[in-house]
Amino acid sequence: MAATVIDGKAFAARIRGQVAEHVAELKAGHGITPGLAVVLVGEDPASQVYVRSKSKQTVEVGMNSYEHKLDADTSEADLLALIDRLNGDPDVHGILVQLPLPGHLDEDLVINAIDPAKDVDGFHISNVGLLGTGQKSMVPCTPLGCLMMLRDHHGSLSGMDAVVIGRSNIVGKPMAQLLLGDSCTVTIAHSRTKDLADVVRRADIVVAAVGRPEMVPGDWIKPGATVIDVGINRIERDGKTRLVGDVHYDSCAQVAGAITPVPGGVGPMTIACLLANTLTACTRANKLTEPDGLTP
Ligand code: NAP
Repeated sequence: MAATVIDGKAFAARIRGQVAEHVAELKAGHGITPGLAVVLVGEDPASQVYVRSKSKQTVEVGMNSYEHKLDADTSEADLLALIDRLNGDPDVHGILVQLPLPGHLDEDLVINAIDPAKDVDGFHISNVGLLGTGQKSMVPCTPLGCLMMLRDHHGSLSGMDAVVIGRSNIVGKPMAQLLLGDSCTVTIAHSRTKDLADVVRRADIVVAAVGRPEMVPGDWIKPGATVIDVGINRIERDGKTRLVGDVHYDSCAQVAGAITPVPGGVGPMTIACLLANTLTACTRANKLTEPDGLTP
C-alpha cells in the first residue's frame, strides 16, 4: 500500500497561523511585538533567497523583521559589535546569523556571541548543552519541524526505534536528542556506519539528513516505517534542474507507512519553526505563558 504523504507545506501553514494568532494576542494584550533580526554577511545567492523568505514570513505573521546586510569583507569585530547591539535591543527577541559565513569569520565565535535566550537557531553552545541535558532551550528549527510532524502523525513516539542518518550539529545530532527526549531508541548513522541498510531496516522512524540525492532506496525501509527526508539536493534530470531528497521517494513510498516529500515536506517547516522559536523567545523574555505545541 502506498505511504501516507506527510504534507509539510500544509502543516507549516498551520504553525504560521498559530504563531500569527499568538502575535496578535501579544500585541493586543501586552503591547508587545516579537522581533526577529536576521544578519546576512556577503552575497551568497542561496543565502539571499533564504533571508528574503524568512523576512517576508516574519512580517506576514505580524512580527517585526530587522534585516542587517553586511559586506562580504566585514570584519569580525564589526560583526560582533552588531550582535552585541542586537543582544541589548529589547525590541529584538530573536537573532539569526545566516550561515555559511565568509571564510575569514569564525562561525563558532560569532554564534556563541549571540545571547542564548535570543538564539532562535538553537546553535549556541549553551542551547546545545541544555537540549542534551533535557532542559528548556532554544531548539534548532529543522529538527524541531521534523519532531512536530512525527508527533502529529504518531501521537506518542515512546519506545519506537529511530535511525537518524547524519550527525551534523544543525540536523542529525539535535534530531537524535529530540527523539531520545520523546523516548525513542535512537541510532545515529554516518559515513562510517557499517551495514547502513541493515541499520535502517530496523527503524520504525528514519530521518535522512545526509545531502546525497536519493541515497536511501525502498528496500532499506521496514514496511510501515515513517520516513522523514531532510535532504535538499539539486540534480539535473531530463535537461531540467529538480529538487530531490536523500531518500528515493518512489521506491520508499511503496514500503513506508508515511513519508515526507521533497519539496513540500521538511523544508517549509524550518521557517515556520523559526517563527515559532521567535515567539517562544519573546514570551520567555517577557515572562509570559509560552504557547502550547510550538516547543519540544
Ligand atoms: P552535513 O553537515 O553535510 O552532514 C551530512 C551528514 O551525512 C554527515 O554526518 C555525514 O557523515 C553523513 N553522510 C555523508 N555521506 C554518508 C553516507 N554515504 N552514509 C551515511 N551517512 C553519510 O549536512 P547537513 O547540514 O546535516 O544537511 C543534510 C541535508 O539536509 C542536506 O541535503 C541539506 O541541504 C539538508 N538540510 C535541509 C534543511 C531543511 O530546511 N529542509 C535544513 C538543513 C539541512 P560524517 O559525519 O561521517 O561525514
